[in-house]
Amino acid sequence: ETPAVQLKNVEKYYGTFHALKSINLSVGKGEKIVVCGPSGSGKSTMIRTINQLEEHQSGEILINGAPISANDPTIDDLRQDVGMVFQHFNLFPHMTILENCTLAPTVVRKVSQKDAEKTAMAYLEKVQIANQAFKYPGQLSGGQQQRVAIARALCMKPEILLFDEPTSALDPEMIGEVLDVMETLAEEGMTMVCVTHEMGFARKVADRVIFMDAGEIIEEDTPDAFFTNP
Ligand code: ADP
Ligand code: ADP
Repeated sequence: ETPAVQLKNVEKYYGTFHALKSINLSVGKGEKIVVCGPSGSGKSTMIRTINQLEEHQSGEILINGAPISANDPTIDDLRQDVGMVFQHFNLFPHMTILENCTLAPTVVRKVSQKDAEKTAMAYLEKVQIANQAFKYPGQLSGGQQQRVAIARALCMKPEILLFDEPTSALDPEMIGEVLDVMETLAEEGMTMVCVTHEMGFARKVADRVIFMDAGEIIEEDTPDAFFTNP
């Protein structure tokens, strides 16, 4: 079966700084991968190349078998299959929760406002935030905003979801509610690549754990093997 995502010998430089060194990674459909490693090791850069928020200089990235590059005219179409949840939520502050969720489906996918709202309410229900749909992001807690960000990503019906330290900016008491939503998605078969320091989550949910250091993948294993290694 064609992997959901493949990175082949991906190299990334920021100026002269070598941020990704020959990264090879294959993510199967429905697979859950947790990426860990020290700060500055390239975790965020790696997952941002998958949707080309960061351009790589050489190597190949394939989504469902199709190679992508930032100057490809079809890049926006490919990027639509890849949802992303950020550390700092990145909701539009001047739009309601519902508007945040309907913007991309209506503008990019040309879904009717009515259908987009119906889908958005269903996903907001799923993350248990539908009762806040007409509020603005600033009126919600961090944990609630992050659940909205997940719902917003789901509204585009992505094939794969990328998470870049989704709980790192949250107060401790709100981490659980976001991890619970991620766990539910995992159980439902979503393909996920998660940069996170939440090792409990990794142990419970990940099919594979990838450890990065200085721009390289230095270890790759099942969570059980990973956490019992000396
Ligand atoms: P991690 O997610 O593991 O903390 P990052 O991918 O954010 O690591 O960063 C990897 C390295 O690349 C770090 O040394 C960081 O300072 C550097 N870096 C990240 N983004 C940029 C950028 N836009 N310009 C220059 N250097 C960057
Ligand atoms: P995060 O923890 O969310 O990955 P960072 O603090 O690592 O955020 O980076 C925030 C922004 O600054 C990112 O857009 C990243 O690309 C950029 N950045 C990180 N390190 C550097 C750097 N050394 N030089 C320039 N930009 C950087």
